[in-house]
Amino acid sequence: MTSTNELIGGLYREGAPISDSKAPDVPIDRQWQERQFQTTLVNPANRRKLSVIVVGTGLAGASAGATLGEAGYRVKSFCYQDSPRRAHSIAAQGGINAAKNYRNDNDSTFRLFYDTVKGGDYRSRESNVYRLAEVSANIIDQCVAQGVPFAREYGGLLDNRSFGGVQVSRTFYARGQTGQQLLIGAYQALERQIAAGTVEMFSRHEMLELVVVDGRARGIVARDMITGAVETHMADAVVLASGGYGNVFYLSTNAMGCNTTAIWRAHRKGALFANPCYTQIHPTCIPVSGDYQSKLTLMSESLRNDGRIWVPKRAEDATKDPRDIPEEDRDYYLERIYPAFGNLVPRDIASRQAKNMCDEGRGVGPAVDGVRRGVYLDFADAMARMGRDAVAAKYGNLFDMYAQITGENPYEVPMRIYPAVHYTMGGLWVDYDLQSTIPGLFVTGEANFSDHGANRLGASALMQGLADGYFVLPNTINDYLAAGPFEGVSEDHPEVQAARESVTERIDRLMQAGGTRSVDSFHKELGQIMWEYCGMERTDEGLRTAIDKIRALRETFWRDVRVLGSPDGLNQSLEKAGRVADFFELAELMCIDALHRRESCGGHFRAESQTPDGEALRNDDEFAYVAAWAWGGEDEAPVLHKEDLKYEYVEMKQRSYK
Ligand SMILES: Cc1cc2nc3c(=O)[nH]c(=O)nc-3n(C[C@H](O)[C@H](O)[C@H](O)COP(=O)(O)OP(=O)(O)OC[C@H]3O[C@@H](n4cnc5c(N)ncnc54)[C@H](O)[C@@H]3O)c2cc1C
Repeated sequence: MTSTNELIGGLYREGAPISDSKAPDVPIDRQWQERQFQTTLVNPANRRKLSVIVVGTGLAGASAGATLGEAGYRVKSFCYQDSPRRAHSIAAQGGINAAKNYRNDNDSTFRLFYDTVKGGDYRSRESNVYRLAEVSANIIDQCVAQGVPFAREYGGLLDNRSFGGVQVSRTFYARGQTGQQLLIGAYQALERQIAAGTVEMFSRHEMLELVVVDGRARGIVARDMITGAVETHMADAVVLASGGYGNVFYLSTNAMGCNTTAIWRAHRKGALFANPCYTQIHPTCIPVSGDYQSKLTLMSESLRNDGRIWVPKRAEDATKDPRDIPEEDRDYYLERIYPAFGNLVPRDIASRQAKNMCDEGRGVGPAVDGVRRGVYLDFADAMARMGRDAVAAKYGNLFDMYAQITGENPYEVPMRIYPAVHYTMGGLWVDYDLQSTIPGLFVTGEANFSDHGANRLGASALMQGLADGYFVLPNTINDYLAAGPFEGVSEDHPEVQAARESVTERIDRLMQAGGTRSVDSFHKELGQIMWEYCGMERTDEGLRTAIDKIRALRETFWRDVRVLGSPDGLNQSLEKAGRVADFFELAELMCIDALHRRESCGGHFRAESQTPDGEALRNDDEFAYVAAWAWGGEDEAPVLHKEDLKYEYVEMKQRSYK
């Protein structure tokens, strides 16, 4: 049989299979308890002799830093913002899942596990997902104890709502500001440890390299973004909680600073990168309105609880005022195609159908490049049913945000929404302990690949970040640290010096390129290539075109980029240039990953692999594995290691939400 690699023309090499060796071989509902019991412990008195670097202060990093500090370890915490509480997690709107079954609607740990595996299109690891579901309930208790003001019902009980891909109400929320409230909780816990002296905070510091000594992660090289100083920081273990890389697409719902540098640098040092092509496109964002934009805004998925999505039945009605289109001329297409889940189908499905409607010419709103890319999200029925005040109480801040950005009043006229890049399911490969393939390097939150498979269900990222940071990592990392403290590494160690020199050389190279084009112009062009060829629909031909275009653009970048200012102080042009340089390399790997995966699954839709009615068609015989890529070397092909996925508790079948 011709191997996939031969089919895609030597773009990668195939290496030995890998597997997770940490999940105990006991029934799934006992695995986590068993693993915690097996873990070697570190005596509380010895913990202060051990140090851990945590890169990131979002929900995954702040929770981990605070918990490790509380446990008594010496923690150094890094973020590039001016305050840990400005991490991108603060933007999260809709909510956080937990299998509490407060609504008595048949929810359970197993159902959350089942929904997540199914929602991820059977491309996630069962053991990790089960643990996530199990730990989910503790997160809510932890956050309530911290004082996070979750929404409550009139009687005082915590309220819930529903998110896509599920038929129960298990999403806890704080209006449209859930991430902000959760982050304030984690941030306060972190600040408490900073005051107690267990955590040392380095804000406005950007990690630019990982230090690996004798095969173990032993530190980082970071640039002080205010003074420009390049510093090394050493520790017994390193945790990366550096978030997702959706900004490789330039336009996304992520904060402008989100990037891939921390995990990409670790990848180049030997950490495998898993499923890089799995990108989540969120169906409910404010549509692009012109080519001047550098940011897209999410309208939370929670709006799909009460809002109804529709387009005109006839293309000629697309320019009419929606209020003048009578009921019988509207197509509530999600309710029509997926009656069981209706407007609450998972994100990948809702996004693709919105694209289909617009491709048919039934999109609404202003035309960009000749196509109207928008569908309506209509609250008229909800207001008739619940009253305008009740809608405002539930979603008011989201409505205000929409009105401020579009100049339209969503209480009067339906919102217009369209899919946009939102989340990356790929990330550094980790085992059940959240340890990467570099001993001593742990990865948590959106930066790892672990729990969501090919498609993440709404409200599951906050759950995963906090599960990792408050409950999983602080237990599993003990097993590694119990062998420490490791031999001290001085700053003159050749590996440390080499890492630091590689950073200064790269900064010099960027500063001296002396070209004519701005960093942003390259980023934008890269994003357009990625959206066009590696976005909502991917084809063999398109992905090959993308790889050629990315390589050519990357070559031009290093020749023609112009980085303004000096490296010896605050320099945003330099910061962006380093991030965009890493995006180029990542983008190529994403396209190779997407090209080699000749099946559709979740957020990865290959046009060549669909059912007769246009749904994603998986190929379990050939692709039921995690694709974990090793860095092959400068301008060398990456190496693919496969982790086979086995489903013992959930039967693999074609996903159906009809
Ligand atoms: C608009 C929006 C709304 C969302 N709403 C929801 C929701 O309702 N529910 C849900 O479950 N999920 C939601 N998500 C997804 C969720 O918010 C994220 O996946 C999650 O918050 C990521 O958390 P994190 O801790 O992994 O990373 P982040 O919060 O992105 O934090 C990354 C941290 O790493 C630091 N960092 C990164 N690189 C470096 C470096 N090189 N050097 C130093 N520091 C570095 C940053 O400074 C930051 O502190 C939403 C996402 C968006 C974009």
